Amino acid sequence: MESSAVLTSIHSLTLEELGTRLAALGQPKYRAKQVMQWIYEKRVKSFAAMSDLPAALRVQLSESFSFDDLAAIRVLGSDDTTRKYLFRLADGALIETVLIPASPALYGEASDRRTLCVSSQVGCAYGCKFCASGLDGWSRNLNAGEIVSQVLRVEEISGERINNIVFMGMGEPMANFANLMQAVSIINAPWGVVLGARRITISTSGLAPQIRELADQPLQVRLAISLHGATDEVRQQIMPVNRKYPLAVLMEACVYYTEHKKQQLTFEYILIEGINDRPEDAAALVRLVRKVRAKVNCIPYNIVDGLEWKRPSEERQDAFMAILDAAQIPATIRREKGHDIAAACGQLRRQTMPAQ
Ligand code: SAH
Ligand code: SF4
Repeated sequence: MESSAVLTSIHSLTLEELGTRLAALGQPKYRAKQVMQWIYEKRVKSFAAMSDLPAALRVQLSESFSFDDLAAIRVLGSDDTTRKYLFRLADGALIETVLIPASPALYGEASDRRTLCVSSQVGCAYGCKFCASGLDGWSRNLNAGEIVSQVLRVEEISGERINNIVFMGMGEPMANFANLMQAVSIINAPWGVVLGARRITISTSGLAPQIRELADQPLQVRLAISLHGATDEVRQQIMPVNRKYPLAVLMEACVYYTEHKKQQLTFEYILIEGINDRPEDAAALVRLVRKVRAKVNCIPYNIVDGLEWKRPSEERQDAFMAILDAAQIPATIRREKGHDIAAACGQLRRQTMPAQ
Protein backbone atom coordinates (compact mmCIF):
# COMPACT_ATOMS: atom_id res chain seq x y z
CA MET A 1 0.00 0.00 0.00
CA GLU A 2 1.15 3.51 -0.75
CA SER A 3 2.15 5.66 2.21
CA SER A 4 -0.50 8.29 2.97
CA ALA A 5 2.19 10.97 3.31
CA VAL A 6 2.59 11.18 -0.47
CA LEU A 7 -1.12 11.42 -1.21
CA THR A 8 -2.98 14.73 -1.43
CA SER A 9 -4.92 15.43 1.74
CA ILE A 10 -8.63 15.40 0.89
CA HIS A 11 -9.18 18.17 3.47
CA SER A 12 -6.87 20.50 1.58
CA LEU A 13 -9.03 20.64 -1.56
CA THR A 14 -11.82 23.00 -2.52
CA LEU A 15 -14.98 21.67 -4.16
CA GLU A 16 -13.78 23.06 -7.47
CA GLU A 17 -10.38 21.38 -7.20
CA LEU A 18 -11.86 18.04 -6.20
CA GLY A 19 -14.21 18.28 -9.19
CA THR A 20 -11.24 18.73 -11.50
CA ARG A 21 -9.37 15.82 -9.90
CA LEU A 22 -12.42 13.57 -10.21
CA ALA A 23 -12.96 14.56 -13.82
CA ALA A 24 -9.37 13.43 -14.48
CA LEU A 25 -10.35 10.07 -12.98
CA GLY A 26 -13.23 9.91 -15.45
CA GLN A 27 -15.90 10.75 -12.90
CA PRO A 28 -18.82 13.18 -13.29
CA LYS A 29 -18.33 16.50 -11.47
CA TYR A 30 -21.31 16.07 -9.13
CA ARG A 31 -19.39 13.35 -7.33
CA ALA A 32 -17.25 16.08 -5.76
CA LYS A 33 -20.28 17.50 -4.00
CA GLN A 34 -21.21 14.04 -2.73
CA VAL A 35 -17.72 13.50 -1.32
CA MET A 36 -17.74 16.90 0.40
CA GLN A 37 -21.13 16.11 1.96
CA TRP A 38 -19.75 12.92 3.44
CA ILE A 39 -16.73 14.74 4.81
CA TYR A 40 -18.16 18.01 6.13
CA GLU A 41 -21.82 17.23 6.79
CA LYS A 42 -21.78 13.59 7.78
CA ARG A 43 -18.23 13.72 9.07
CA VAL A 44 -17.17 10.26 7.98
CA LYS A 45 -13.50 9.38 8.34
CA SER A 46 -12.87 7.11 5.38
CA PHE A 47 -13.79 6.76 1.73
CA ALA A 48 -15.07 3.26 2.51
CA ALA A 49 -17.89 4.83 4.57
CA MET A 50 -19.23 6.85 1.59
CA SER A 51 -21.92 4.29 0.91
CA ASP A 52 -23.67 5.94 -2.02
CA LEU A 53 -20.49 6.02 -4.12
CA PRO A 54 -19.67 3.10 -6.41
CA ALA A 55 -17.29 0.67 -4.69
CA ALA A 56 -14.67 1.06 -7.42
CA LEU A 57 -14.66 4.83 -6.97
CA ARG A 58 -14.20 4.48 -3.22
CA VAL A 59 -11.11 2.39 -3.84
CA GLN A 60 -9.85 4.86 -6.43
CA LEU A 61 -10.34 7.76 -4.00
CA SER A 62 -8.45 6.02 -1.22
CA GLU A 63 -5.58 5.40 -3.62
CA SER A 64 -5.47 9.07 -4.63
CA PHE A 65 -6.19 10.99 -1.42
CA SER A 66 -5.42 10.72 2.27
CA PHE A 67 -7.70 11.44 5.20
CA ASP A 68 -5.77 13.54 7.71
CA ASP A 69 -6.47 11.78 10.92
CA LEU A 70 -4.79 13.87 13.54
CA ALA A 71 -3.86 11.66 16.49
CA ALA A 72 -4.79 13.31 19.78
CA ILE A 73 -1.91 12.24 21.97
CA ARG A 74 -2.83 14.42 24.94
CA VAL A 75 -6.00 16.24 25.88
CA LEU A 76 -5.93 18.55 28.87
CA GLY A 77 -8.90 20.33 30.36
CA SER A 78 -8.82 23.02 32.98
CA ASP A 79 -11.37 23.92 35.66
CA ASP A 80 -12.96 26.55 33.47
CA THR A 81 -13.24 23.95 30.69
CA THR A 82 -10.63 25.40 28.38
CA ARG A 83 -9.36 22.29 26.64
CA LYS A 84 -6.05 21.80 24.97
CA TYR A 85 -5.29 19.16 22.37
CA LEU A 86 -1.83 17.98 21.41
CA PHE A 87 -2.01 16.41 17.95
CA ARG A 88 0.53 14.25 16.17
CA LEU A 89 0.62 14.71 12.39
CA ALA A 90 1.33 12.01 9.80
CA ASP A 91 5.08 12.76 9.85
CA GLY A 92 5.25 12.69 13.65
CA ALA A 93 5.31 16.50 14.13
CA LEU A 94 3.36 17.85 17.11
CA ILE A 95 0.94 20.79 17.08
CA GLU A 96 -1.46 22.31 19.60
CA THR A 97 -5.10 23.36 19.30
CA VAL A 98 -7.06 25.01 22.11
CA LEU A 99 -10.84 25.11 22.62
CA ILE A 100 -11.96 28.14 24.62
CA PRO A 101 -15.56 28.47 25.78
CA ALA A 102 -17.22 31.88 26.16
CA SER A 103 -16.20 33.95 29.11
CA PRO A 104 -19.44 34.79 30.99
CA ALA A 105 -17.81 38.05 32.09
CA LEU A 106 -17.39 39.15 28.47
CA TYR A 107 -20.33 37.54 26.72
CA GLY A 108 -22.93 36.75 29.43
CA GLU A 109 -23.90 33.42 30.99
CA ALA A 110 -26.05 32.36 28.06
CA SER A 111 -23.39 32.73 25.39
CA ASP A 112 -22.67 29.65 23.32
CA ARG A 113 -19.51 31.12 21.88
CA ARG A 114 -16.83 28.47 21.43
CA THR A 115 -13.55 29.62 20.03
CA LEU A 116 -10.92 27.36 18.56
CA CYS A 117 -7.33 28.50 18.55
CA VAL A 118 -5.58 26.73 15.66
CA SER A 119 -1.94 26.29 14.67
CA SER A 120 -0.61 27.26 11.24
CA GLN A 121 2.97 25.96 11.37
CA VAL A 122 5.09 23.46 13.27
CA GLY A 123 7.17 25.77 15.46
CA CYS A 124 7.78 29.38 14.48
CA ALA A 125 10.66 31.19 12.81
CA TYR A 126 9.93 34.62 14.29
CA GLY A 127 11.49 34.06 17.68
CA CYS A 128 9.53 36.51 19.83
CA LYS A 129 11.35 36.51 23.14
CA PHE A 130 8.30 35.78 25.31
CA CYS A 131 6.77 32.96 23.26
CA ALA A 132 7.12 29.20 23.70
CA SER A 133 6.32 28.43 20.04
CA GLY A 134 9.47 30.05 18.74
CA LEU A 135 11.88 28.56 21.27
CA ASP A 136 12.78 25.53 19.17
CA GLY A 137 12.65 27.28 15.82
CA TRP A 138 10.55 26.46 12.81
CA SER A 139 10.10 22.99 11.27
CA ARG A 140 7.54 23.34 8.50
CA ASN A 141 4.30 24.85 7.27
CA LEU A 142 1.03 23.06 7.87
CA ASN A 143 -0.84 22.26 4.69
CA ALA A 144 -4.43 23.45 4.35
CA GLY A 145 -5.77 19.99 5.24
CA GLU A 146 -3.85 19.92 8.51
CA ILE A 147 -5.35 23.29 9.42
CA VAL A 148 -8.93 22.29 8.49
CA SER A 149 -8.55 18.93 10.27
CA GLN A 150 -7.87 20.63 13.61
CA VAL A 151 -11.43 21.96 13.48
CA LEU A 152 -12.94 18.62 12.45
CA ARG A 153 -11.02 16.63 15.07
CA VAL A 154 -11.80 18.94 17.97
CA GLU A 155 -15.49 18.97 17.01
CA GLU A 156 -15.41 15.18 16.86
CA ILE A 157 -13.64 14.68 20.20
CA SER A 158 -15.49 17.38 22.13
CA GLY A 159 -18.89 16.80 20.53
CA GLU A 160 -19.21 20.58 20.32
CA ARG A 161 -19.65 22.90 17.39
CA ILE A 162 -16.99 25.59 16.96
CA ASN A 163 -18.36 29.02 16.08
CA ASN A 164 -15.20 31.13 16.17
CA ILE A 165 -11.69 30.45 14.93
CA VAL A 166 -8.55 32.37 15.79
CA PHE A 167 -5.19 31.71 14.16
CA MET A 168 -3.37 32.21 17.44
CA GLY A 169 -1.89 28.77 17.97
CA MET A 170 1.60 27.79 17.00
CA GLY A 171 3.22 29.54 14.06
CA GLU A 172 2.97 32.74 12.05
CA PRO A 173 -0.06 32.30 9.76
CA MET A 174 0.97 35.10 7.40
CA ALA A 175 4.26 33.30 6.70
CA ASN A 176 2.19 30.37 5.38
CA PHE A 177 -0.10 32.60 3.35
CA ALA A 178 -1.23 30.33 0.49
CA ASN A 179 -2.14 27.42 2.78
CA LEU A 180 -3.76 29.81 5.24
CA MET A 181 -6.01 31.30 2.56
CA GLN A 182 -6.86 27.87 1.19
CA ALA A 183 -7.82 26.63 4.68
CA VAL A 184 -9.86 29.76 5.38
CA SER A 185 -11.80 29.33 2.15
CA ILE A 186 -12.58 25.68 2.99
CA ILE A 187 -13.65 26.60 6.53
CA ASN A 188 -15.80 29.41 5.17
CA ALA A 189 -17.35 27.52 2.23
CA PRO A 190 -21.05 26.54 2.15
CA TRP A 191 -19.97 22.97 1.22
CA GLY A 192 -17.21 23.01 3.89
CA VAL A 193 -17.19 23.91 7.57
CA VAL A 194 -19.65 26.80 6.91
CA LEU A 195 -18.20 29.33 9.30
CA GLY A 196 -18.72 33.02 8.48
CA ALA A 197 -15.57 34.92 7.54
CA ARG A 198 -16.27 37.46 10.28
CA ARG A 199 -15.91 34.64 12.78
CA ILE A 200 -12.38 33.92 11.63
CA THR A 201 -9.50 36.00 13.00
CA ILE A 202 -5.97 35.90 11.66
CA SER A 203 -3.30 36.99 14.11
CA THR A 204 0.09 38.21 12.93
CA SER A 205 3.28 39.47 14.49
CA GLY A 206 3.21 42.19 11.83
CA LEU A 207 4.14 40.97 8.34
CA ALA A 208 3.29 44.21 6.54
CA PRO A 209 3.27 42.94 2.91
CA GLN A 210 0.89 40.08 3.76
CA ILE A 211 -1.38 42.43 5.72
CA ARG A 212 -1.78 44.42 2.50
CA GLU A 213 -2.30 41.26 0.50
CA LEU A 214 -5.03 40.16 2.89
CA ALA A 215 -6.63 43.60 2.57
CA ASP A 216 -6.89 43.02 -1.18
CA GLN A 217 -8.70 39.68 -0.77
CA PRO A 218 -12.50 39.65 -0.85
CA LEU A 219 -13.01 37.56 2.33
CA GLN A 220 -14.09 39.65 5.32
CA VAL A 221 -11.90 37.86 7.86
CA ARG A 222 -10.80 39.75 10.94
CA LEU A 223 -7.25 40.76 11.65
CA ALA A 224 -5.38 40.94 14.95
CA ILE A 225 -1.91 42.41 15.25
CA SER A 226 0.43 41.22 17.99
CA LEU A 227 1.75 44.62 18.95
CA HIS A 228 3.23 44.17 22.45
CA GLY A 229 5.32 47.32 22.17
CA ALA A 230 4.25 50.84 21.16
CA THR A 231 7.71 52.21 20.37
CA ASP A 232 10.34 50.63 18.12
CA GLU A 233 12.71 50.57 21.08
CA VAL A 234 10.45 48.45 23.27
CA ARG A 235 9.05 46.33 20.46
CA GLN A 236 12.30 45.24 18.93
CA GLN A 237 13.62 44.24 22.31
CA ILE A 238 11.00 41.47 22.40
CA MET A 239 10.00 40.99 18.74
CA PRO A 240 12.82 40.60 16.21
CA VAL A 241 10.30 41.03 13.34
CA ASN A 242 10.15 44.73 14.25
CA ARG A 243 13.59 45.24 12.66
CA LYS A 244 12.22 44.09 9.32
CA TYR A 245 8.88 45.89 9.63
CA PRO A 246 9.23 48.77 12.09
CA LEU A 247 6.14 50.36 13.60
CA ALA A 248 5.81 53.07 10.93
CA VAL A 249 5.70 50.43 8.16
CA LEU A 250 3.37 48.20 10.17
CA MET A 251 0.97 51.04 10.95
CA GLU A 252 0.78 52.05 7.27
CA ALA A 253 -0.21 48.49 6.39
CA CYS A 254 -2.80 48.52 9.21
CA VAL A 255 -4.37 51.73 7.91
CA TYR A 256 -4.43 50.20 4.41
CA TYR A 257 -6.26 47.17 5.84
CA THR A 258 -8.90 49.11 7.76
CA GLU A 259 -9.56 51.37 4.79
CA HIS A 260 -9.88 48.56 2.27
CA LYS A 261 -11.91 46.26 4.49
CA LYS A 262 -13.99 48.96 6.17
CA GLN A 263 -13.23 47.09 9.34
CA GLN A 264 -11.56 47.83 12.62
CA LEU A 265 -8.69 45.66 13.73
CA THR A 266 -7.49 44.43 17.09
CA PHE A 267 -4.12 45.11 18.66
CA GLU A 268 -3.05 42.35 21.00
CA TYR A 269 -0.87 43.68 23.79
CA ILE A 270 0.66 41.26 26.29
CA LEU A 271 1.52 42.96 29.57
CA ILE A 272 5.02 41.97 30.67
CA GLU A 273 6.28 43.38 33.94
CA GLY A 274 8.83 46.15 33.61
CA ILE A 275 9.13 45.69 29.84
CA ASN A 276 6.02 47.21 28.28
CA ASP A 277 3.64 47.88 31.18
CA ARG A 278 4.92 51.25 32.44
CA PRO A 279 2.77 54.41 32.33
CA GLU A 280 4.91 55.77 29.47
CA ASP A 281 4.22 52.56 27.51
CA ALA A 282 0.49 53.10 27.96
CA ALA A 283 0.87 56.71 26.78
CA ALA A 284 2.81 55.57 23.68
CA LEU A 285 0.13 52.98 22.97
CA VAL A 286 -2.56 55.66 23.13
CA ARG A 287 -0.67 57.78 20.57
CA LEU A 288 -0.19 54.83 18.24
CA VAL A 289 -3.72 53.45 18.37
CA ARG A 290 -5.23 56.85 17.60
CA LYS A 291 -3.76 56.56 14.09
CA VAL A 292 -5.97 53.65 13.03
CA ARG A 293 -9.47 52.22 13.57
CA ALA A 294 -8.65 49.65 16.20
CA LYS A 295 -9.35 48.34 19.65
CA VAL A 296 -6.81 47.01 22.10
CA ASN A 297 -6.89 43.63 23.75
CA CYS A 298 -4.53 43.45 26.71
CA ILE A 299 -3.43 40.03 27.96
CA PRO A 300 -1.47 39.53 31.17
CA TYR A 301 1.66 37.56 30.23
CA ASN A 302 1.35 33.80 30.60
CA ILE A 303 4.47 32.45 32.31
CA VAL A 304 6.58 30.15 30.08
CA ASP A 305 8.99 27.66 31.68
CA GLY A 306 12.56 28.64 30.95
CA LEU A 307 11.80 32.30 30.19
CA GLU A 308 12.41 35.03 32.72
CA TRP A 309 9.46 37.32 31.92
CA LYS A 310 6.88 38.05 34.60
CA ARG A 311 3.20 38.85 34.68
CA PRO A 312 2.51 42.24 36.28
CA SER A 313 0.44 42.49 39.46
CA GLU A 314 -3.27 43.26 39.07
CA GLU A 315 -2.58 46.78 40.39
CA ARG A 316 -0.09 47.41 37.60
CA GLN A 317 -2.48 45.94 35.03
CA ASP A 318 -5.29 48.18 36.30
CA ALA A 319 -3.07 51.26 36.20
CA PHE A 320 -2.17 50.51 32.57
CA MET A 321 -5.83 50.04 31.62
CA ALA A 322 -6.81 53.25 33.41
CA ILE A 323 -4.52 55.26 31.13
CA LEU A 324 -6.10 53.75 28.00
CA ASP A 325 -9.52 54.32 29.48
CA ALA A 326 -8.85 57.97 30.32
CA ALA A 327 -7.78 58.50 26.70
CA GLN A 328 -10.99 56.79 25.54
CA ILE A 329 -9.18 54.05 23.69
CA PRO A 330 -11.49 51.04 23.29
CA ALA A 331 -9.67 48.41 25.29
CA THR A 332 -10.37 45.21 27.20
CA ILE A 333 -8.21 43.04 29.36
CA ARG A 334 -8.42 39.30 28.94
CA ARG A 335 -7.66 37.63 32.22
CA GLU A 336 -7.13 34.56 30.15
CA LYS A 337 -8.28 31.08 30.81
CA GLY A 338 -6.24 27.97 30.83
CA HIS A 339 -3.27 29.38 32.70
CA ASP A 340 -3.09 26.08 34.56
CA ILE A 341 -2.81 23.96 31.40
CA ALA A 342 -0.02 25.86 29.74
CA ALA A 343 -2.49 27.46 27.34
CA ALA A 344 -0.03 29.92 25.82
CA CYS A 345 0.77 28.45 22.45
CA GLY A 346 3.69 26.09 22.17
CA GLN A 347 3.97 25.17 25.82
CA LEU A 348 2.31 21.77 25.88
CA ARG A 349 4.33 20.66 22.89
CA ARG A 350 7.55 21.64 24.65
CA GLN A 351 6.61 19.65 27.74
CA THR A 352 5.95 16.60 25.58
CA MET A 353 8.78 16.78 23.05
CA PRO A 354 11.88 14.78 23.89
CA ALA A 355 14.74 17.03 25.08
CA GLN A 356 17.06 17.98 22.21
N1 SAH B 1 2.29 34.25 15.20
C1 SAH B 1 1.04 34.91 15.35
C2 SAH B 1 -0.07 34.03 15.87
C3 SAH B 1 0.31 33.06 16.95
S1 SAH B 1 0.77 33.75 18.52
C4 SAH B 1 1.20 36.14 16.21
O1 SAH B 1 2.26 36.33 16.79
O2 SAH B 1 0.26 36.91 16.26
C5 SAH B 1 -0.83 34.21 19.15
C6 SAH B 1 -0.78 35.22 20.26
O3 SAH B 1 -0.27 34.63 21.48
C7 SAH B 1 0.12 36.40 19.94
O4 SAH B 1 -0.53 37.62 20.23
C8 SAH B 1 1.27 36.14 20.85
O5 SAH B 1 2.00 37.29 21.05
C9 SAH B 1 0.60 35.56 22.07
N2 SAH B 1 1.51 34.93 23.03
C10 SAH B 1 2.64 34.23 22.79
N3 SAH B 1 3.23 33.85 23.94
C11 SAH B 1 2.44 34.30 24.96
C12 SAH B 1 2.51 34.23 26.38
N4 SAH B 1 3.50 33.58 26.99
N5 SAH B 1 1.53 34.82 27.10
C13 SAH B 1 0.49 35.45 26.47
N6 SAH B 1 0.37 35.54 25.14
C14 SAH B 1 1.33 34.98 24.38
FE1 SF4 C 1 5.86 33.17 16.37
FE2 SF4 C 1 3.65 34.55 17.08
FE3 SF4 C 1 5.16 33.25 18.94
FE4 SF4 C 1 6.11 35.44 17.75
S1 SF4 C 1 4.30 35.34 19.09
S2 SF4 C 1 7.25 33.51 18.08
S3 SF4 C 1 5.30 35.24 15.67
S4 SF4 C 1 3.99 32.32 17.29
